Amino acid sequence: MPLVETEAIVLRTHRLGEADKIVSLLTRQLGRVRAVARGAMSLRGRFGSALEPLSYIRLWIYDREGRDLQRVSSAEVLESFFEMQKDYRIQVAAQYLSEVTEHFLPERELNERAFRLLLVVLRALKRFGEVNRPLLFFDYWLLRLSGFLPDLGRCARCQRPFENQAGFYDPISGELFCMDCRPGGCAEQVSSQALALIKEFESARIEQWLATKKAPPGSRELRRFFEEVIESHLERKLTTRPLLAEEV
Ligand SMILES: [Zn+2]
Repeated sequence: MPLVETEAIVLRTHRLGEADKIVSLLTRQLGRVRAVARGAMSLRGRFGSALEPLSYIRLWIYDREGRDLQRVSSAEVLESFFEMQKDYRIQVAAQYLSEVTEHFLPERELNERAFRLLLVVLRALKRFGEVNRPLLFFDYWLLRLSGFLPDLGRCARCQRPFENQAGFYDPISGELFCMDCRPGGCAEQVSSQALALIKEFESARIEQWLATKKAPPGSRELRRFFEEVIESHLERKLTTRPLLAEEV
């Protein structure tokens, strides 16, 4: 049973009995895994606050390959995202990031870019206190890195660029169509203004984008559209999505 040292982000934890925790983790070396941490309920214990949701940690873990549940040996905090979650909006946004990551990324599949994406988005939430653009950036890149991003430039059927017209999302094919080509039942519409926003951030670093100006009009709409795409790929509703819609 090899002991592996890796960086990780804690996605979620839940209590196991009186003293222990089950921890869902995105790790650099092993991908997404779940592990038991004995004695982790005690803040004065050997894990301290390392196993709080969204902590960025250095982790030593016993990798029992072929088993569902690994075992945490020890952990130390590299960077905490605990304080920022005292702001309810940020807390809900952080929970959204955990939920999407946990369901979207397959277990034990290495994904260095997704790891770095989650980390930069957490840092942006912490530094800028804004929810909208960090989540938009996260959704876009997660879909793109996973190969689930529809072509946002032109209609999937007639290939006409969207330019000044809206796109219609078909959850069955996962594609975006123009008004004329849309199959029946394409309810989700995304405006040309929202689609045009992608140019603003697709080749920028997130901090540059957030530092320059306020969230442009259409960003909430575009985020809602990506949430829709994510849900249709997961084939389930995200529990944090209604909370976000209310608050942010
Ligand atoms: Zn078309």
